[in-house]
Amino acid sequence: MAAKLLEGKEIAGKIKNEVKKEVEKFKEEGIEVSLHAVMIGDNPGSRVYARNQKKSAEEVGIVYHLHELPESQTQEEVIKFIEELNRDEKVNGIILQVPVPSHMNAREIQMSISPDKDAEGMNPYNIGLLIYGKGKLVPCTAKAAKTLLEATGLPLKGLEVTVVGHSEIVGKPLTLMLLESLFESPTPTVCHIATRDLSFHTKRADVLIVAVGKPGLIKGEMIKEGAVVIDIGINRVPVLDDKGNPVLNEKGRKKMKIVGDVVFEEAEKKASFITPVPGGVGPVTTAILLRNTLEAVKLQKRGK
Ligand code: NAD
Repeated sequence: MAAKLLEGKEIAGKIKNEVKKEVEKFKEEGIEVSLHAVMIGDNPGSRVYARNQKKSAEEVGIVYHLHELPESQTQEEVIKFIEELNRDEKVNGIILQVPVPSHMNAREIQMSISPDKDAEGMNPYNIGLLIYGKGKLVPCTAKAAKTLLEATGLPLKGLEVTVVGHSEIVGKPLTLMLLESLFESPTPTVCHIATRDLSFHTKRADVLIVAVGKPGLIKGEMIKEGAVVIDIGINRVPVLDDKGNPVLNEKGRKKMKIVGDVVFEEAEKKASFITPVPGGVGPVTTAILLRNTLEAVKLQKRGK
């Protein structure tokens, strides 16, 4: 039986509608909600992200500013710039576009973002709140994966959830979020590069969540019949023809497509629910970023 598709667009649309209503209320109070992105140097990938963020922010009435800083800046200069944004009352949310140039440390820069303006939820204070199940500004992708899982309507209590990938931005915060409830939590297992027998853990998962960045890592045979599969991976791979040769575009370059970490065609035959890539976790992540910005305004203006 083919799996049900967990479409991100629909869920993202609902979150955005809620955010839009509250942004309008703030507007009536004379408060214009704003999100500020800081990009250092020119990175084509970051530019695409920024363009999409701007479009989504504007859809819900959030004003989006992209600050482009030259690559020649020192880390101290970038931090100083962020501290100015921290002090500016008109700035509600701040995000750092990654990657940053090699002479800088993205984590240290992110840590300079004020906890109540931390739209990506990556400040140690906000990550720390997750331990207590009290996260307000939460890591967007981790929250997006949890939101998609909740959209299945399955009671999570006691389920075996295997999270593949233990990065600070996805796997670790997601695991903390899965343990939010004292009595109703599932049982998470976290796998990573040093896990000895990955398929042992994936095969017994009622819910399999994958955030690695390796196309084809999770094959159909590694998935339990009826499992929920949430694929966070984003990988650019060449489009191949029937003989396995790369298809070229009009300019003679390899035609590329985006895939996840899971072999979708195999997984959809075994899973009960599955997220598509693209169109699954991605749109929800952006919607959570907007909701975090709204939460940030509430923290700044109302202290809650
Ligand atoms: P990362 O490189 O920081 O972490 C990768 C994780 O995968 C590590 O924990 C590592 O131990 C684990 N890993 C590597 N090889 C493995 C293997 N063979 N078996 C098991 N575990 C293995 O990556 P990240 O920033 O967490 O991102 C992971 C993926 O999620 C990437 O493809 C990224 O593009 C994607 N991503 C998507 C969104 C979204 O909005 N959809 C957002 C962030 C990241």
